[in-house]
Amino acid sequence: MAVPLLDITRQHQPIIEDLRSVFNKALETSRFIKGPEMEQLEKEFAAYCGTERAIGCASGTDALILALMAVGVRPGDFVLTTPFTFFASAGAVVRAGGTPLFLDILPDTYNIDPELLSEWLTDNCMVTNRGVVHKGNGTRIGAVMPVHLFGQLADMDRIMSICNDWQIPVVEDACQAVGAKWSDKKAGSLGTAGCFSFFPSKNLGALGDGGMVTTDDPEIAERIVSLREHGGRGYIHEEVGFNSRLDAIQAGFLRIKLAHLESWHKGRRRNARFYEKAFRSLGNVTTPLIRKEAWSIYNQYTIKAADRDGLLNYLRERSIGCAIYYPLPLHLQKCFECLGYSDGDFPVSEAVSKEVISIPVFGELSEEELTEVASTIKEFYADKG
Ligand SMILES: *Cc1c(COP(=O)(O)O)cnc(C)c1O
Repeated sequence: MAVPLLDITRQHQPIIEDLRSVFNKALETSRFIKGPEMEQLEKEFAAYCGTERAIGCASGTDALILALMAVGVRPGDFVLTTPFTFFASAGAVVRAGGTPLFLDILPDTYNIDPELLSEWLTDNCMVTNRGVVHKGNGTRIGAVMPVHLFGQLADMDRIMSICNDWQIPVVEDACQAVGAKWSDKKAGSLGTAGCFSFFPSKNLGALGDGGMVTTDDPEIAERIVSLREHGGRGYIHEEVGFNSRLDAIQAGFLRIKLAHLESWHKGRRRNARFYEKAFRSLGNVTTPLIRKEAWSIYNQYTIKAADRDGLLNYLRERSIGCAIYYPLPLHLQKCFECLGYSDGDFPVSEAVSKEVISIPVFGELSEEELTEVASTIKEFYADKG
């Protein structure tokens, strides 16, 4: 039996008439960009995340760029993040004018190691009237950007305590973590700003591209409102911004889907429990470790597997959906050669990129399909002997 990694059609089937009516309404009203649909979504999304404000934009990547600029990242500043993430995390830093400075991850949660962050700041930085700067080269530290990978928040207690001590803004890359919690606080409500993607494969996906920034800070919110529309108000411009607006039709789709998000999370979490049990006695597979403070939304279900590439081929030959997130850590990407990193700089990220494989976890999977995925993986190790 073939099992897809993700089948969004199944998610849309029960709400297809609601989605069609959004499309019809857009055609009738000819309000296509921003407008009341987007404003309603912004209110509902802020309430969902537990923040004062939410500002819609064109993608998760843009949300990161806008948030980094709005919290005060200036050209040349370092932004501290990890190399084991989707490319856009570091790509956005560069597009915001900053320079990614990578720190390694924890081997069990794949999120930034807060002790490395603390050590790096203590060893390399000092506080000046320009903010926190690198002692060696005077580069400012513009922001720290934890990535909540695969649906689990990074250790926000430690990260916020370190960053509050140093007075460095924190931009959460929550693109894979909408609705995920850390001790009852939702992703995007713990840092200075939080960034979300509505790419179709995220837990809350639009029918196209979309993004959102959350914050409690009214000045940051207003700066993003301005930056997303050419850095101005009306035709008066104080700075050069972007064209990064959210379409009314996508906002309408997202409003419909936001109302179902909690029940969709439940489906993914049920499937995660299924795998947890299924692989419990299988020494070749390590299931995801979720910290006791964390409530994961399992945007991906990512296991560590012995002979990962063998398993990958075995599953592909049998049409079981799977993918490697992520095969090449960002410090080893060609476009970041100029940053001067080399192989061996981030041993945990490098090791993990050779061990991980993500398997189907979307909420609409049937028990039969889950059983098929689990038994095919068990078969692979049994065949190997
Ligand atoms: C998806 C994603 C992004 C980018 O979102 P887009 O909407 O595709 O631009 C950024 N960071 C992470 C961690 C992501 O998973």
